[in-house]
Amino acid sequence: MLILLRLELPGTGPTSEMDIQPDIGVPSARRTVHAWHQLDPAHVVDAMSSHAEQGLDPVAAAERLETYGRNEIKTSAQLGVFGIFATQFFDFMILVLLGAAAVAGVLGAVQDALVIIAIVVLNAIVGTVQQYRAQRAISALREMAAPTARVRRNGHILSIPGVEVVPGDLLLLESGDVVAADARLLRTETLQLDESALTGESRSVSKSPDPLAQATVELGDRRNMVYRDTLVTRGNATAIVVATGAATETGRIAELLRSGRDAGTPLQLRIARFGRHLALAILGICAVIFVVGLLQGQAPMLMFLTAVSLAVAAVPEALPAVVTVSLALGARRLARRNALVRHLPAVEALGSVTFICADKTGTLTENRMSLGRAVAAGQRLTSLPTRAQATAVWTHVGQALALNNDADPDPELPRGDPTELALLSAAEQADFIRTQLQETMPRIGALPFDEHRRRMTTLHTVAGRQLLYVKGAPEAVIPLCTQAVSSTGTGPLDVSTATAEARALAAEGYRVLALALRELTERPVAFEANVLESELVFLGLVGLIDPPRPEARKAVEDCISAGITPVMITGDHPETARHIARQLGIATSGMTLLTGADLEHLSDADLTKRVRTTRVYARMNPEQKIRIVNALADGGELVAMTGDGVNDAPALRAAAIGVAMGQRGTDVAREAADMVLLDDNFATIVTAVREGRRIFDDIRKFIRYTMTSNAGEIWTLFLAPFLGLPLPLLPIHILWINLLTDGLPGLAFAAEPAEADVMRRPPRPPGENIFSRSMWLYMLWMGLTIGGLALAGQAWALSQGAAHWQTMVFTILVFAQLFHALGVRSETRSLWRIGLTSNLPMLAALAAMVGLQLMAIYLPSLNELLHTQPLPAADLALCFGIGSLVLVIIEAYKFCLRRVGPHQHQET
Ligand code: ATP
Repeated sequence: MLILLRLELPGTGPTSEMDIQPDIGVPSARRTVHAWHQLDPAHVVDAMSSHAEQGLDPVAAAERLETYGRNEIKTSAQLGVFGIFATQFFDFMILVLLGAAAVAGVLGAVQDALVIIAIVVLNAIVGTVQQYRAQRAISALREMAAPTARVRRNGHILSIPGVEVVPGDLLLLESGDVVAADARLLRTETLQLDESALTGESRSVSKSPDPLAQATVELGDRRNMVYRDTLVTRGNATAIVVATGAATETGRIAELLRSGRDAGTPLQLRIARFGRHLALAILGICAVIFVVGLLQGQAPMLMFLTAVSLAVAAVPEALPAVVTVSLALGARRLARRNALVRHLPAVEALGSVTFICADKTGTLTENRMSLGRAVAAGQRLTSLPTRAQATAVWTHVGQALALNNDADPDPELPRGDPTELALLSAAEQADFIRTQLQETMPRIGALPFDEHRRRMTTLHTVAGRQLLYVKGAPEAVIPLCTQAVSSTGTGPLDVSTATAEARALAAEGYRVLALALRELTERPVAFEANVLESELVFLGLVGLIDPPRPEARKAVEDCISAGITPVMITGDHPETARHIARQLGIATSGMTLLTGADLEHLSDADLTKRVRTTRVYARMNPEQKIRIVNALADGGELVAMTGDGVNDAPALRAAAIGVAMGQRGTDVAREAADMVLLDDNFATIVTAVREGRRIFDDIRKFIRYTMTSNAGEIWTLFLAPFLGLPLPLLPIHILWINLLTDGLPGLAFAAEPAEADVMRRPPRPPGENIFSRSMWLYMLWMGLTIGGLALAGQAWALSQGAAHWQTMVFTILVFAQLFHALGVRSETRSLWRIGLTSNLPMLAALAAMVGLQLMAIYLPSLNELLHTQPLPAADLALCFGIGSLVLVIIEAYKFCLRRVGPHQHQET
């Protein structure tokens, strides 16, 4: 097999030439030294031992995959399980604790030291499991979001994962694709690429397969090459892959890419900052506890260990990791519901979305179109007359629909624009078969459809004459017509009647296209729109039905009750848009509609005012979407915006949440998006918002739970000496409580079902701090309550002369946290309303917690290790009773909140 080498010449950077070594056995003196761009296509195909028509055969492709490796660029080294485990100890306080334990061990307390180390290790294992799960969830998501490439192998066109592309593969490119590997062009059709990612050049560059003369050509000027990760903005091409993975130009600069977007979500950063402040406060308190203990005459080593254990237990160093876990697991849940999150911060932002701007066609409607009306020569029909029965006008209509059409109606995998597929099927049902028509009327040129022109033109030869067919939006076609065909022949066109007819069809909800023709006596010299698309003869109109998605109406309702404004953006006719918007409940009385033309006349400031009341945007082009996103953002809104085309990418980037379509969308749109809808469905965005809100709620509940529990422990140790009580807990107890109460129930909060009102309350303000004032207050007083209960238990036990008083304090704290976990499962609703069994993982975690604590109390071996004593049944019941008071208090608090009003408690 031929082996290819690409050598980088030192110092020449991306303009370096490449060596091609056609055969590994050929002595180096006989090597031809050429760059790919200098060779003509046939030579490149030869050098790559591929085939210009058939491509590689699957066996060769598999061998090459083995030889050259996967077509991927490693951007960051992922830690293995042991790496993650090791990082659990990279924490200053944990190191101090381990050091102190070791010193205590050397001074004689060997057993205590070992138990402390064991608990720290167990804690690290819990942390590792959590983080590893999150990492796995994130890489699974990455894999799902990985792009695919179209290649030709053995003569068949295949869609394969981009990582499986190998040197020698024939790559098929079309507008909207992201190029999978470096490749030499073999054939191009109006090909243009955006290579800014590689060259910094922001304008699209045109490409063609012709060889270049010079050897040293700047990357941006290699017109016959395409490079990995650049974007096809126009046309299509076939190219042969010459380098994959790390050997590509992007691979070489991969170092630069390592500073990727995953620096931490805003929430993680906020929590990390908060954690640092809190750590200082906790260290201060621990220092006070240490000093007061010394003054009380406690042993310095014991007090030091106590203070450090408390610091380790109470400093929320794991919070950012827990947030990652929640976001990553949330993202995995979202993927199961067809919403693929590409960037974790999006999960967080979803909960604050205030506007959802959705494309009409395919997102709000089914995108399964069919012909509903055809209007020509004064007749309004529901289907085309058959070819045998058609008059001259209807024959032209049928021919125009069949011939001015690029759809590929392959029964297994129909490809192409759904509009054209519908038109083609309508034509073929009336016996206007494209393949037959093409024999007598071959196409000799075409001006393709795009969102700006909104029309498409094809030129055909018929028995020595030239016939031009035009189809497109009525506003884009009717003004070009001067004449019209009627039943009696050709006459002047009545523009207002034709426009009114189009409008009437649109008002009935049809997607309307106008048809026109022109006969040319001579073959045109230039194939240009301004020459050809004039003096047309108007043929008639067709109206397509594209029914709204059945689930979209309910999703729109959910949006509105959740305080989110749904907005429709479409390239379609304003009347069609209005009709569908009414059917879906998007358009209500008092709402306004803006067209692309209106938008042109509005200043940014005016637009910022208008976007608040506008629910439907019609005849928009993708560039205008970005103005809408920016205007909404200026007004303080958090926007989710959908898009599928190449030109949608800037708007997707500008939106807080760019949403791309998984089925219909281009790679370019997907790359720019934060979330990809695998089913292209509007309802899925609403589901994702619901999940986003739930995830945020769960994180907040977890933080509230763990921080309050920690506060309880701090209050207990801090207040005891001031109340004249002896040291309530040993260092081991503090660490044990931390292990039991943080790890297990902490994970179970992620399984908490959504609150019933999750979609009935307004969106969370985007900048809202998770640690609002009321959260602080709650932590303070609930922590004090827990600490107070523990100390009351201690005082009572001491007054009874019970030797096991310390075990009682220890147990009360564990039970108090158990009931607290149950209480904070809902922010407002009572535990009885949400149901004890609605979060089974939580029940299991709490049962495990109780089981372990009972073992700590009653297993003789643990009695010795943890310095505990068996409690008499009555005292155990008392601890349980005291702990359960926490639930009574929290339920009373929630009852008050419910009384205050439904939304005032949002921040709490
Ligand atoms: P969105 O997806 O944003 O809802 P859309 O798909 O409805 O928009 P476009 O695809 O830009 O909007 O189409 C706008 C108009 O162009 C259509 O209403 C139709 O009249 C016309 N049109 C659409 N597809 C074609 C086509 N293939 N050839 C000619 N005209 C077309």
